[in-house]
Amino acid sequence: MTWNFAAGRLVASQPWLEALAEHVAADDRDFHRHEGLYFGVGLETGALHTAFIHSSVRGQGAGGLRHWPYPTLESLIRDGLRLSTGMSRKNALAGLWWGGGKGIVARQSEHGDRYRDPAYRRTLYREYGAFTTSLRGLYVTAEDVGTGPSDMAEVFATTRHVTCVPPAVGGSGNPSPATAKGVVSAMEGALDHCGKGGIAGKTVAMQGAGNVATFMIEALLARDVGRVVATEISAPRCALLRERFAGRPVEIRETTIGDLSIFAEPCDVFAPNALGGVLGPETIPLLQTPIVCGAANNQLLDDRRDDSALAARGIIYVPDFVANRMGIVNCANEQYGTLSEDPAIERHFSRDWDNAVFVVTKRILELAERRGITSSEAANELADEACSQAHPIWGHRGRAIAEGLETDGWGR
Ligand code: NAD
Repeated sequence: MTWNFAAGRLVASQPWLEALAEHVAADDRDFHRHEGLYFGVGLETGALHTAFIHSSVRGQGAGGLRHWPYPTLESLIRDGLRLSTGMSRKNALAGLWWGGGKGIVARQSEHGDRYRDPAYRRTLYREYGAFTTSLRGLYVTAEDVGTGPSDMAEVFATTRHVTCVPPAVGGSGNPSPATAKGVVSAMEGALDHCGKGGIAGKTVAMQGAGNVATFMIEALLARDVGRVVATEISAPRCALLRERFAGRPVEIRETTIGDLSIFAEPCDVFAPNALGGVLGPETIPLLQTPIVCGAANNQLLDDRRDDSALAARGIIYVPDFVANRMGIVNCANEQYGTLSEDPAIERHFSRDWDNAVFVVTKRILELAERRGITSSEAANELADEACSQAHPIWGHRGRAIAEGLETDGWGR
């Protein structure tokens, strides 16, 4: 099965896909002139492998591989469309010479514990690597929700178009510490913009206490945060973190999916650190914070509606792709070698570089205030301008690759 959505043209190989394509095209909320959508089915696993290329103008479409269950194919497509657009904007605004893309492997709920089996994962990710290779470098994958560096090592066995591979094979490994530091820099930018000083003494509430959140708590403690309250659905993770932060001003609350109490926690900064789509009509009215700034991708349920709802409540929203850029920055240039305290990465955490997270956060919030637009609109404007700049050496080579795939009958 293939579905190539190249240059805005739909080529669907099955009638039900054509119907779905028409349905999605009729509602263009998530479609931003994506260059291509590529779908394949793993021969051994039967898993649905997908790659969404939003833009390859600045370079190869780069973005992580999500391994997640979706209730419908439509919900998977919407997620891929939104996530890949976000990656174009994130990469461009971070000054990276990458385009934007996203991979999704649909997690089949009926397969249950199969995903814990290392042999199954090895097959799955080697399949995904081969799928990526078939795209001839149009898409470069990386880790994301549901995948990790060890999975990327398997992907690396069948494609060179992958980052976040383990340091043992020359990669940058786990991006979470860098992502966490970047989110904290963005929080500092937002607090500074509001004239509220630094992190010291502040209360930070977060939904989700996973990889990024854990490093974020450490970075916040290093800045003398007053209090951190985090909710987490995994009991073992709660136990681990309670032990890790014992005696520190950190409260880890075990919760269940659907419990919205953390949104109503009075705090100085609220950080969505679990999954996206959490800020919408149900949760925005609950917020008791002047600032939302977190790690999750696509935090707004509807990005044309919910940033206005936040602004209407006087809440400063740091667009997710501004706050969480450091994951991709950390892995983006791993093929150029490794330096300790790499200046190409460290400068993003500074305050004197024009493109640092702190500086860009303030620039966006100031632009939004000056123009009377939302922070998302301001960030999108700056990012889309950067997205239109073609790669200084390779130009818009991805378009030629996509055309070659189509001419050569990719997937047929
Ligand atoms: P993770 O899976 O380690 O952490 C997410 C945590 O949230 C998990 O522990 C999970 O149990 C918990 N969770 C899920 N639903 C919840 C709920 N309703 N309430 C409370 N807890 C809940 O993932 P991560 O690597 O820490 O990434 C967190 C978010 O940041 C993701 O959305 C990811 O896409 C985004 N992000 C991560 C990176 C990175 O470098 N890892 C980079 C950019 C963006």
